Amino acid sequence: MQILSSPQHVRERIAGWKKESKIAFVPTMGCLHEGHIALVKRAKQLAERTIVSIFVNPLQFGPNEDFDRYPRTLEQDKLLLERAGIDLLFHPTVEDLYPKGFSTRVVVGPLAENLCGKSRPGHFDGVATVCLKLFEIASADYVVMGKKDFQQLQVLKRMAMDFNLGSQIVGFPTVRELDGLALSSRNRYLLPDERQRANSLPRALSAARHLTIARKDVDVGEVLLNMGRELNQAGFEIDYCAVASEDDLTPQPDYIKIADVRLPRLFVAAKMGKTRLIDNMELGRKEDS
Ligand code: AMP
Repeated sequence: MQILSSPQHVRERIAGWKKESKIAFVPTMGCLHEGHIALVKRAKQLAERTIVSIFVNPLQFGPNEDFDRYPRTLEQDKLLLERAGIDLLFHPTVEDLYPKGFSTRVVVGPLAENLCGKSRPGHFDGVATVCLKLFEIASADYVVMGKKDFQQLQVLKRMAMDFNLGSQIVGFPTVRELDGLALSSRNRYLLPDERQRANSLPRALSAARHLTIARKDVDVGEVLLNMGRELNQAGFEIDYCAVASEDDLTPQPDYIKIADVRLPRLFVAAKMGKTRLIDNMELGRKEDS
């Protein structure tokens, strides 16, 4: 596994690969866990060459968010990636990606208006800007990303289409702990008692999925009411909880029947103590991988 920090060096390194093999790319912010490694394994199935990036992107963090304290565990990440058998780790510094004078931004459209886009103004513009750069530098045939960050996945699929990028964005199902909690680098912020209570989030999501599979007459209001009750009981402070179609990510009103929504999905962001967790789940059907 080679480790490079300069975009130019990455381009030079992969120029030869591109002629004879497919390339798959997994962008991350590091502090890697089994969810990230599952994406790497998928990438390895898709292409002969695999690139992973680790970059905590300041552009996507708001002024009161956790950029400075975001966990950084580079040495351990390197070991995990070496073991996973990737070809190249791209680990740029902030100056490598945003040198003095950097001034162009991607502005994301309606897909970023709701859910996390509403709670975190400018977040998806920052994500799209860094990803446009990373996708360009890696010039991969495939980019593998988690459905854990479903809105991010849809925003980047849209960007790839809008800008005619040569990479196909591939979504991967959320990898969970045994009790259902979605793996996340931010889970390490949770105190032991909070960690235990946090599993009410995936439990409530699963309950909603089962309910909407079992009964065709369930409406959005009933799903959100159940969800709110469960989360409040566990001590979560809800940021948002919404049902939206995967197509447009626009929250549906309470009276709409889940069965009348195309590709309905339940989205939640909630704080357990100081830690903001997000999760989502398909409704009325099982996840397709
Ligand atoms: P992050 O390092 O949090 O920016 O995540 C990097 C990539 O890993 C993104 O595409 C995430 O959606 C994905 N990811 C994070 N957690 C999980 C998980 N539990 N299961 C699957 N993919 C994940």
